[in-house]
Amino acid sequence: MIHQLSSTTINQIAAGEIVVGPQNALKELIENAIDAAATRIDVITKDGGVKLLQVTDNGSGIAPDDLKLLCRRWCTSKIDTHDDLRTLTSFGFRGEALASISHVSHVTVITKLRSEPAASRAKYELGEISEQALQAGNTGTQITVQDLFFNTPQRLRALNKADCHTKCVDVVSRYGIHNDSVEFSFRRQNDSSMLFTLKGSKRDRIRVVYGSRVSGSLVEVEDDTDNADESVISTLSNIGLSRAPELLISNPNYSNTKSTFIIFINNRLVSCEPIRKALVAVYSRYLPTKAFPFVYLSLFIDPENLDVNVHPTKQEVRFLHQAEIVDFLSNLVDDTLSKIDESRVFDVVD
Ligand code: ADP
Ligand code: MG
Repeated sequence: MIHQLSSTTINQIAAGEIVVGPQNALKELIENAIDAAATRIDVITKDGGVKLLQVTDNGSGIAPDDLKLLCRRWCTSKIDTHDDLRTLTSFGFRGEALASISHVSHVTVITKLRSEPAASRAKYELGEISEQALQAGNTGTQITVQDLFFNTPQRLRALNKADCHTKCVDVVSRYGIHNDSVEFSFRRQNDSSMLFTLKGSKRDRIRVVYGSRVSGSLVEVEDDTDNADESVISTLSNIGLSRAPELLISNPNYSNTKSTFIIFINNRLVSCEPIRKALVAVYSRYLPTKAFPFVYLSLFIDPENLDVNVHPTKQEVRFLHQAEIVDFLSNLVDDTLSKIDESRVFDVVD
């Protein structure tokens, strides 16, 4: 018999697409903190984020009156109409993350606007607020997610905690490297020592996460637009790039058995297979076989050329002029590596 699924069931199914594991929830919480203009984000986890995931930010905070809608599906402060997607500058827009998370875990929020005398504390179950009270607290927001997948045991069983921990470390590392105006810290609950603190330049942050062998090998691909070279600017705009890409790449003396690609498009962490493949191909001309580079890339594509609404996790994006952009990046990397390679030869001859 055909019947309408209950809204709880619908929400649980939808939640499973957005929150595959703790790392997806963590990413959403970090993005919300950045959307709220935080300059400091502290992350605490337990059991790879499955038992506990806590993100504390010093951002704008949430108004007490907004708390009742906070975990309700399709409730957002970030867009009004579909048209707003064309000029989107925030990470969020669907109002689905907290709703999804609260359908598969216990969510507690402590938040305070600068203008409020006290913080509010609220608890959520299945998207609805279950408790709200005043308490002392700092400006900003702390979101605590406990017992992820407590109500979907088959999902819980499929998770490997060590694997979840690695993925959480990866999410904080990558966001922490890219967002260099935000200080990040990461520790495990009941472990007084920090796993890491990220502050300072991108290179400093890369050193903390990946070690000095990587950070010491990095070269910055020159950004020529500062010289106001008209031809460069028109090349960029012809292929839909709103500014020069930022690239920090390992030099030909560095290699690893696997590649690391950190790719942000319009400040969104994405996996972009065409870019990865093309750059690995460029490096293969400079590195021994089975040796791979480290690449950090931040691209800014005209928002109207970019579709972020491809997949619930927003990990994949589609954009116009993909082939031209991939070529442009390949040439940029090739030029940089070939210059280093020439000087490497000279060094030996000298
Ligand atoms: P979205 O980010 O797509 O709007 P979310 O479910 O992630 O949806 O968040 C819902 C709303 O809750 C946001 O639009 C924002 O207004 C508010 N919010 C969530 N996290 C924070 C935070 N850390 N600081 C301030 N506001 C927040
Ligand atoms: Mg969000």
